[in-house]
Amino acid sequence: MEKQAQFDALTELPNRFYMMAKLKNLFEAEKQGKYFLAMIDIDDFKKINDSFGHNVGDDALKMLARTIVNKARGVELSYCRWGGEEFLLLGKCVDGEVPKNFLDELRVEINSKSFWTSKGSGRMTVTIGAGKYKVGQDYKEWINFVDKQLYVGKCTGKNKVVC
Ligand code: GH3
Ligand code: MG
Ligand code: MG
Repeated sequence: MEKQAQFDALTELPNRFYMMAKLKNLFEAEKQGKYFLAMIDIDDFKKINDSFGHNVGDDALKMLARTIVNKARGVELSYCRWGGEEFLLLGKCVDGEVPKNFLDELRVEINSKSFWTSKGSGRMTVTIGAGKYKVGQDYKEWINFVDKQLYVGKCTGKNKVVC
């Protein structure tokens, strides 16, 4: 029961409830100042579903989840399936800043993997909106901020990291 409550059945990643609890703990310990959030959203995912079917879309989501899990090995990074085709990362800043290079590497790695369709292989791109914690924000405002960064990325060509 507890596992079901905190994990997403499709990708087997932790879910939004897990991440909310994680953020709550971070704020209670007053450690949030050292962290960044990054929202990952698959570009034109609806087209993947429409072109190849929902099952292929599901495979793409699972592949993206595996790429995140691999990228998180050996670094302090929490992740979840936030919902739909959106994934939220919570990680430690490097030299006080969002590690843009790390997020860009992740973006490129996601695009380098192929998923299989009846029409051959397909690839996806993602847009990532990120931000370090700013004094005075609560965690909802922080999430809203990275969502806005994501929106900026979507409106300026997609397939990029905005931080
Ligand atoms: P954008 O580049 O602006 O992000 O466009 P988009 O097409 O990715 O975004 P939009 O919000 O229009 O579509 C998201 C799609 O994600 C629609 C929905 O059917 C699909 N989706 C959400 N959850 C799942 C899922 O679990 N499996 C599959 N196959 N599709 C899903
Ligand atoms: Mg979306
Ligand atoms: Mg999308």
